[in-house]
Amino acid sequence: MDLIYIIVIAVLILTLVFLLVKIRKLNIDKNIVENSKNQFRKVLNSIQQSILLFNNEDKLMFYNKHAYDTLSIDYNHMNLTAQMIFKNSKIDDVFYKRERHRVFDVNFEGKIYLVHIYSINTNDVFNNNVQTIVILNNVTEARKIDQTKKDFFAHASHELKSPLTAILGYSELVSLQMVEPDEYDDIIQRIYNQALHMSLLVEDMSILSRLESITDDQKDRRNILLEEVLKETLYTLEPFIEEKNIEINIDMDKNIEYLCIPLDLNKLFKNLIENAIKYSNIGSQVKIKLKKNKDNKVIFEVKDQGIGIAKDQIGRIFERFYRIDKGRLEPGTGLGLAIVKHTVLKYQGEVLVDSNPGVGTTITIKLPATN
Ligand code: ADP
Repeated sequence: MDLIYIIVIAVLILTLVFLLVKIRKLNIDKNIVENSKNQFRKVLNSIQQSILLFNNEDKLMFYNKHAYDTLSIDYNHMNLTAQMIFKNSKIDDVFYKRERHRVFDVNFEGKIYLVHIYSINTNDVFNNNVQTIVILNNVTEARKIDQTKKDFFAHASHELKSPLTAILGYSELVSLQMVEPDEYDDIIQRIYNQALHMSLLVEDMSILSRLESITDDQKDRRNILLEEVLKETLYTLEPFIEEKNIEINIDMDKNIEYLCIPLDLNKLFKNLIENAIKYSNIGSQVKIKLKKNKDNKVIFEVKDQGIGIAKDQIGRIFERFYRIDKGRLEPGTGLGLAIVKHTVLKYQGEVLVDSNPGVGTTITIKLPATN
């Protein structure tokens, strides 16, 4: 009797131990799962793209930190469908068709996102069915740059086409001997002018592209005397100044040194002074100021008494190829002020325009001093 009793107790203890071991093992497994979940969350939260996971009912079951920070997706969106969150027919379509993978751009909250959508069907570490993974990447800036490049090439080829067509036309006339001997000089001058215009266009385009593409040219910068740059600029513009009988008035601090790529400042000065002369009447005055102010800023100001710029045009004159009143064309590429803008940006300065039609224009550049 005693023996049977002991055997029963032993069996009970063994069963208990067995159960305890089993329960502990189950707990350990649960911990492993819990740990994996946390690791997985951490990984997804550290990714610098928005990630949203939807279950097999197309309802949101997880969003990462980036989605919270940038798309303002929060707990209020949990259990909402992608359709409700994005209200985008392309996204709805992928969910509806259960396509394995699709990539496209969508507009969401005023920004452009490149969206990757993957449809899968598996049990994940959350022990839920993840049906769809949506990954969003903000590409607003990149798309803007793409568009600007496209516009630039379209404009550039258009601008190059007209002088080229003229050159081809005149050359054809000459080659077909359709030009009278007394017209030769005129035709040659026209061909030269068009070729010159093309060459100025190409030069300005390459300056712009250099300004935009080179991000770090510190090692190529050198200290120059701005007075020297201004003198050199006025020297190259001398024939033009004389031709229009412009009176140049200079107010300048001597000995201002500036650490830069000399060509940048040369182009900046030249474009502004050239415009002041170009858009002024014969015999008028252009005032140039080159100073260092008490805030340690280099001020370069060009003031003319020319045709002026209407208020609604002031914001546009810095756009590439933008020229006011194409009918009254002065020679030019339409890139001069775009170069000015990019140069000022490069040296972290600012540009101010004050203008009144029929009265004149003042353009002021402020650059932080470099010493
Ligand atoms: P452009 O080669 O045509 O001079 P810019 O980019 O230098 O090109 O200037 C853009 C446009 O801004 C010019 O076509 C002109 O209409 C206007 N503009 C620039 N500077 C002046 C100025 N000082 N006075 C009046 N209009 C100006």
